[in-house]
Amino acid sequence: MAMIGIDLGTTNSLACIYRNGRAELIPNELGEYKTSSVVSLMEDGTILVGAAAKERLISHPETTAASFKVWMGTERSISLGTRSFKPEELSSLVLKQILQDVQRYLGEPVEEAIISVPAYFNDNQRCATKLAAQLAGLTVKRLINEPSAAALYHRHSTGGGDSRMMVIDFGGGTLDVSIVECFENIIEITAIAGNNRLGGNDIDHAIVTCFCEQNGLSMEELDSSARSVLYRQAEEVKIALSQPRNAPEATIVLRQGEDKYSLTLTNSLLRQLCEPVFRKVREVITRAMKDREHADKIDDVILVGGSARLTVFGDYLEELFGRRPEVCSNPDETVALGVGLCAGIKERAEELEDIVMTDVCPFSLGVATYNDNRDKNPHMAFLIQRSSMLPASHQDNFYTLSDNQQRLRFEIYQGEGYYASENLKLGELEVRVPPAPAGRQYATVTFTYDIDGILHVSARSSGGDYRDRLILNPRLQPGGMALQQAYERISQIRLAAQGTQEDQMLLETALRIHAQTIGECREQAAELIQYFERCRADGDPIRLGKARREMKKRLAVLEIYLYADPLSEEFRFDDDE
Ligand code: AMP
Repeated sequence: MAMIGIDLGTTNSLACIYRNGRAELIPNELGEYKTSSVVSLMEDGTILVGAAAKERLISHPETTAASFKVWMGTERSISLGTRSFKPEELSSLVLKQILQDVQRYLGEPVEEAIISVPAYFNDNQRCATKLAAQLAGLTVKRLINEPSAAALYHRHSTGGGDSRMMVIDFGGGTLDVSIVECFENIIEITAIAGNNRLGGNDIDHAIVTCFCEQNGLSMEELDSSARSVLYRQAEEVKIALSQPRNAPEATIVLRQGEDKYSLTLTNSLLRQLCEPVFRKVREVITRAMKDREHADKIDDVILVGGSARLTVFGDYLEELFGRRPEVCSNPDETVALGVGLCAGIKERAEELEDIVMTDVCPFSLGVATYNDNRDKNPHMAFLIQRSSMLPASHQDNFYTLSDNQQRLRFEIYQGEGYYASENLKLGELEVRVPPAPAGRQYATVTFTYDIDGILHVSARSSGGDYRDRLILNPRLQPGGMALQQAYERISQIRLAAQGTQEDQMLLETALRIHAQTIGECREQAAELIQYFERCRADGDPIRLGKARREMKKRLAVLEIYLYADPLSEEFRFDDDE
């Protein structure tokens, strides 16, 4: 049975398989490698995932969700209409869709996967990713850090001699910077730094904020559909400005009743708006370089992730490094190809067998420790330091602070702060100790951080009591009732039927344009919707094929004229029936 690699992205997700001696991306039902990580609840209770769901962000914002990866591992609930979902449940629906597409394409069942996660994902986020996969019916054979996957693919595809490179993975919602040393067949990730709330979405947000300021609009007063329209256009103009032919400017237009608002963006304004985001990128780069000796001697800077395509980002990095970084040929596919390669290594493909890849722990892990029993603000005793090579294991002894103390309780934290309260609490563990004067009894705490970046903690007291189960967030705990319930909930959800994606996508695009416009453009969208629904209901495959072609042509025209002033007569839609 095949094992696949999945890049489960904030904006898009991709699947890859290693076969016939190479990593091969797997197209979805629309023939595209990228599936939008967007989920929408349809009126009939089915779930739509991908490009068609993305269209519904504008026409049905209340029942559609995007960018939920940034909430993975948190308690946040996301509502789709009257139903509410946890972030890992929404991710599981994306994985379910990908799995359905992969199985259709390969013609065989797939149960195992390697999934990439941002290097900076914390323990909760990693557990949530594994849980999402489990809910989708997949066994995760390994979680791999996204920049490690990118480095693996870059190294494998370019060959090259011994070198030290910096991989900057700048996606929709996350930034990861890693320093990778390659010598002979060994790829060693030696430092990682990141920010999992920084990406292209922040740039879109800066553009939308500027649009509102310039037009005297308040974002809070706009309805969710208008906001979605603005975000979609912000992303489009941002991308347009980085096209190879480099359009000098691009305009965002919003119509509210009779009023029309606009903002024209140039690369120089975009650069200005990106400045706060780029400053944060710089902080992360500096952190990665400080963690590694000789990191100033970087041979190559490699850019991956969708936002790597931004011209102004390349300009900024060129100023920072004194030379232009290399953008991978397909920056938004590199991670997925690397995860596919990793699946090949895991399956022991002969030609890949001798590649060895090592990774490091991206943050420090430890327990809260008290100076004495009056201490109210515990500080950290670190058991695993940031940038330790994985798997890492370390133990330490902790002594009782009071006479006849009966228990030693350990609160486990992740982060770099001196005080425990500054860091992320992962869970707690408690062991019993026999009564004795203070400082006589103790417990040995062992931390093991595995190659998936998941922490295992155990404690053994001097009295012989042993515990190795963290009191984690019960929802994210492997096994157990909560998982079973979530599994049952998710397995009852139906995805849109196979073979319907293209039609759904065409219909949703027409619905989106209808929601976005008024006047003649809206009337034409309405005509298209009725025409296409009639053809679908009719069930005649020849007529439907013709209708699809017609829809594509007409929608493309409407897209062009979407933001222009009232359509000219020549673009009137005539039903050809
Ligand atoms: P990823 O998470 O790697 O799929 O990256 C998605 C992010 O890349 C989104 O914020 C997109 O807006 C952004 N993106 C995709 N293509 C481009 C492009 N050509 N220029 C600038 N940003 C892009």
